[in-house]
Amino acid sequence: MSDKLVMAVNAGSSSLKYKLYRLEGLEVVCGGLVDRIGHEDGIFKLTYNGETTKEVLPIMDHHKGVELILNALTSKGIVKDKNDIVAIGHRVVQGGKYFSKSALFDADTEKKIADLTPLDPLHAPAHLMGFHAFKEAVPEAVAVAVFDTAYHQTMEEEDYLFPIPYELSEKYDCRRYGAHGTSHRYLAEKAIAAYLGGHKGTRIITCHLGSGSSLAAIRTPLGGVMMGTRSGDLDPSVSYYLSEQMGLSSAEVYDLLNKKSGFLGVSGLSNDTRDVEEGYFKGDRRCITASNLFARRVADYIGQYFVRLGGVDLIVFSAGIGENSPFYRKLVLDRVKEALGIVIDEKKNEKAFGGKEELISAPDSPVKVAVIPTDEEKMIASDAVKAYEGKL
Ligand code: ADP
Repeated sequence: MSDKLVMAVNAGSSSLKYKLYRLEGLEVVCGGLVDRIGHEDGIFKLTYNGETTKEVLPIMDHHKGVELILNALTSKGIVKDKNDIVAIGHRVVQGGKYFSKSALFDADTEKKIADLTPLDPLHAPAHLMGFHAFKEAVPEAVAVAVFDTAYHQTMEEEDYLFPIPYELSEKYDCRRYGAHGTSHRYLAEKAIAAYLGGHKGTRIITCHLGSGSSLAAIRTPLGGVMMGTRSGDLDPSVSYYLSEQMGLSSAEVYDLLNKKSGFLGVSGLSNDTRDVEEGYFKGDRRCITASNLFARRVADYIGQYFVRLGGVDLIVFSAGIGENSPFYRKLVLDRVKEALGIVIDEKKNEKAFGGKEELISAPDSPVKVAVIPTDEEKMIASDAVKAYEGKL
């Protein structure tokens, strides 16, 4: 077997997630996380052979993070030589109008990502830092950028345009781009192969419900549900009204809607649905409200996409909540099952958590419902392999 390896990287402003695969067959070798970059008490984690090691040490920048990863890989004998890593795929959240598929991470791609910073000030600089750190450490590896927005670029104008003055949409590229595209792409490919007899052209709604959430109507993806700390869709006058009432700047209102809303804001307890679910069963009124609000909004999107697709063959639940919470799946499905004629196998729903893939609809249900664990890293690694083989 060849020793060639491929790395999937997700670089944030203070973190670096990584997963290493064998090039052949994309078998996972190891993975981990560098967290609290920029701090004296940075965290370095590595999971290999089912065992996780954790170190706390100063990690002042992304270069140090990459050095830690590569040193650990070689010193533990996981990798003979860092240059065995022949391809590195980098997750990039925003590809704007430029990228409808993954791209070689060359000077042109780098410039475009930098130019897109105003559309994604949170992630773009971090992605570039991650890219540079790896480029310096493993210069020979083929680098590829895998965009969350790329998969959504097939949206039609009527789906991506906001009803604002048209010139502004054009001038500032202010439009809907979609989220978690790499996950939706993975789920759709997997779902088509596993549950729809390989038929393309079927109608699928994928629900990526994690700390960030999005739904996609394949082939017509959109976004905007309530999330862990984010409000999701709102009447735009809410921003204006709150800023007037509270004397906040637009940046402060934006922060409030991003970091203090969603499950956290409504429940007043936590952004983690495990806590909110517990609160629900203890009868906490705000946890009940937060859960119902979330389920209502996901259900409304499913309804909207059902109409947009002219029906649906399969609904997929995925990510932290979608994969692990029979309770939230039921709360959502109870709100759509009558209209869509869905019949759920409650026992199967109860048993589907912890990384299990499961068809949770009953055999006679006209719409199938599946739980599919997502794997964005594998998609990123697979695109890195394609780039290495010149087949991107
Ligand atoms: P990210 O978007 O950061 O990748 P995940 O997809 O891992 O997030 O989702 C994390 C969230 O999923 C947690 O914040 C929590 O709300 C939810 N979650 C995880 N496990 C469970 C569970 N067993 N039951 C209910 N919710 C869960």
